[in-house]
Amino acid sequence: MILKILLLLVFIFLTNQGFKFRLDYLIETNNITTIIVFSILWVFSIFVLLLVTFQQNSLIRIFWALIIAATTAVSYGFYAAGGSELEVLDVLELWQARHETSRAFDHFQHAVIKAAIVAFFGFVIIAYPPPKIEGKAKKLLTVFAWLPIIPVMMFITLIFIKSDRAVAGLPQQLSPISIATAVGYKLSVQEIPDRKTVNEKPKYAAKVKHLVYLVDESINPDYIYTSPGKLLQSFTQNQDKIANFGTAVSGSNCSARSNAILRLGATRDNLIESVRTSPTIWQYAKKAGFRTVYIDSQASEKTVTKPNDFQNYMTSEEAKLIDKFYKVKNVEGPDLDYRLLEIMEDELKSDKPTFIYANKNGAHFPYDDNYPDSAAIYQPVPTGEESSGLDGLLDLYESGSMEPVINTYKNSIFWTVDKFFEKLFMEIDLSDTAIIYTSDHGQYFEPSSTTHCTSGEDAPATEGLVPLMVITDKKPLLHKFEESAVTNYNATDQFSLFPTVLDLLGYSEDIQNQYGPDLLDPPSGKVSAFNTGDILGIISKDTIWREVSKEERIKLVPNAPIKPLAN
Ligand SMILES: [Zn+2]
Repeated sequence: MILKILLLLVFIFLTNQGFKFRLDYLIETNNITTIIVFSILWVFSIFVLLLVTFQQNSLIRIFWALIIAATTAVSYGFYAAGGSELEVLDVLELWQARHETSRAFDHFQHAVIKAAIVAFFGFVIIAYPPPKIEGKAKKLLTVFAWLPIIPVMMFITLIFIKSDRAVAGLPQQLSPISIATAVGYKLSVQEIPDRKTVNEKPKYAAKVKHLVYLVDESINPDYIYTSPGKLLQSFTQNQDKIANFGTAVSGSNCSARSNAILRLGATRDNLIESVRTSPTIWQYAKKAGFRTVYIDSQASEKTVTKPNDFQNYMTSEEAKLIDKFYKVKNVEGPDLDYRLLEIMEDELKSDKPTFIYANKNGAHFPYDDNYPDSAAIYQPVPTGEESSGLDGLLDLYESGSMEPVINTYKNSIFWTVDKFFEKLFMEIDLSDTAIIYTSDHGQYFEPSSTTHCTSGEDAPATEGLVPLMVITDKKPLLHKFEESAVTNYNATDQFSLFPTVLDLLGYSEDIQNQYGPDLLDPPSGKVSAFNTGDILGIISKDTIWREVSKEERIKLVPNAPIKPLAN
């Protein structure tokens, strides 16, 4: 009996890494009420867990053992993968990225193994038959058979009251299932307001025949330079077709949110409302007489389970606005973006004006999947065992060098950005086509930290730093962008892209202005910021921003020149 209690306590102790951090924080901020609530919930949860382990009815005991072991394992695995506790927004994000599950499993193998071990021990400790208890105590245990529902309901209530960090530091035996239930409930009852329609046709003729919105994956702008001031070769050789806006700030530091901001007419000032109700980029393109094409090259054969598995908050309603929907499938990692380029080239041959939104695979993790051996120009790279994602990264860091992993990242960029653009400039006729090129978010290299998607106001700025270029060979148009790229160098953010697209499609200033300044307007002077919270307002309507100063852009991207390179 004592052994069972001891083992349970040890299990709880070992699987609640967020506890001490949260308690320290609460003590530091002198938050007495929260400390009291926090302590009561802890004591009550431990009491409930003890009752469960001594439950005399085997079926009920095994039922709870399964749930508690699974919940703890998910939380433990999440912690092992990213070094932070599972929170409400993480669950939302994981739900949105569910099509990437198998890639994540590959990347975080070590975490999956640890989670499995935790699940096994948790299950055995709780499910193992307890000593027989007779009489009144047995009756009481029967009465309290479903007691764990009470702390779960309490946690759910907290989530609805306090939103994101509501259950931080609380027992991981019960909190992840509470989060999942709360998020699931909200997702199911969420009323989605109607999206507005585009009523007016553009006032002017479109400024280009074809427009491509090329959104790369995980590109840290420091790495589009090979050394200080020296852009990748393909960009250098084609500088007469590029207006380079320097380092821009992304809409968010997470793929789904950033892409949704780009497609759904999001504004900085009224984020949640605009994401839900603005007409989409497809609606504006169609009203302007453009065919709409979407290409997603992030869905290799490993990850796609069904053809309509949309990512980045795309709904089937939105997908109906797309005339041609491509998901690049059955293609090896290094070929994903090249297949995207082929499709792009074909579509741009159309006589009809065409608008393409393309999600490149770019430097998607695991980095060494993205390029062929022949493109491994940066050496050394991790070998064999080490190369499996973050585990390798951490080992290497501890052994004193992150260089090998960063080399795989640089090789990725060499192949999927430099070589990709070399081919693009050779094969795509840019005389009446414009490409807006950027990345969904940046990439941050630090041990025990995720590379992007950190929540909170103090997320690393690097996660939201991205390249931004307008590429075209239509000279008068290019010159306008080149001029504004001088005044707007290192000063823009991705909220300016939606109105820029509207401008290129020919919409009036009035309509553009609803979405804030575009790339051709002078800088607003407002400090740029990327969002690090929920943009759909699922749990709360509050938005969380990480402001990025101009100084940070310069300091964190040392390879980029401080002023634009002269053409
Ligand atoms: Zn991404």
